[in-house]
Amino acid sequence: MGSVNADLVVGVERRPSAGETVLGSDLVTYPGGKGANQAVAAARLGGRVGILGRVGDDGHGELLRGSLAGAGVDLGHLTVTPGPTGVALITVDPDGDNSIIVSPGANARLLPPDVERARAMLAGASVVSFQLEIPIETVEAAARTAADAGARVVLNLSPPAPLPGGLAELCDPLVVNEHEAAFLLGHRGEPAVLAKELLGRGPRSVLVTLGADGALVADASGVTAVASPRVEAVDTTGAGDAFTAALCLRLARGDALADAARYAARVGAAAVRRPGAQSSFPGADEELPA
Ligand code: ADP
Repeated sequence: MGSVNADLVVGVERRPSAGETVLGSDLVTYPGGKGANQAVAAARLGGRVGILGRVGDDGHGELLRGSLAGAGVDLGHLTVTPGPTGVALITVDPDGDNSIIVSPGANARLLPPDVERARAMLAGASVVSFQLEIPIETVEAAARTAADAGARVVLNLSPPAPLPGGLAELCDPLVVNEHEAAFLLGHRGEPAVLAKELLGRGPRSVLVTLGADGALVADASGVTAVASPRVEAVDTTGAGDAFTAALCLRLARGDALADAARYAARVGAAAVRRPGAQSSFPGADEELPA
């Protein structure tokens, strides 16, 4: 469940300051949004996936419906809303650094009544993955519905936001990168210490992703480090989404959390070898880096 966006990308020599105009490269439009990315990644790996989300009645909505359907994602709960689809306006400078403005569009209209309508899908799922590019009250309502029906709740705290107590307790795991961990705790530190502190905030388990350094899994039995394969990183966009999707897929198939994280790290590493987000996600029969 989550955001469905069109990513509009322009390369620039440098960012314009207030009142200034600069010329950029040709515009490229990619399917994106954390919810859509995770759904596509999990479906490509062979999962049976449905998405709960909203797109607008514009060309971007069509693009996103096409990419999701192309990956085999069930669109029965992807509602078309009058108005614009969410977009991310992205400029990339010659160093590869991004500046991003997100306009939520239809994502902002994904509200608790949508959760009611999707109750059967949420209740029938083994795992439901959430991120925070949609209204948090909708995430809270859907996570509660899913957990009450016995589904496992996975939450990516991205973009970072305070985590309401009732929601924290449902997460198994809470997935954060180092920035999100620092946001939530209010300080930086040794990743293993951060992971334990995060566990103390209520989630049943915690996963801290560490880029090329892999990830840490923390639960009642302790903290486990998971290495990531060494690869030549071309573009890390979507690595976290690929990681989380692969994690959910393996959890749905009954893997223990650390085993699911080992597989997810290989999928995350595969995704950084190619440019783009959805365009970088591996298929089920692709050999993953080890
Ligand atoms: P996010 O994209 O959310 O910031 P990370 O950068 O931590 O998340 O990446 C998520 C996962 O993808 C990592 O845990 C790791 O398994 C994999 N990954 C990311 N960057 C690299 C890299 N440079 N080399 C190998 N694996 C990577």
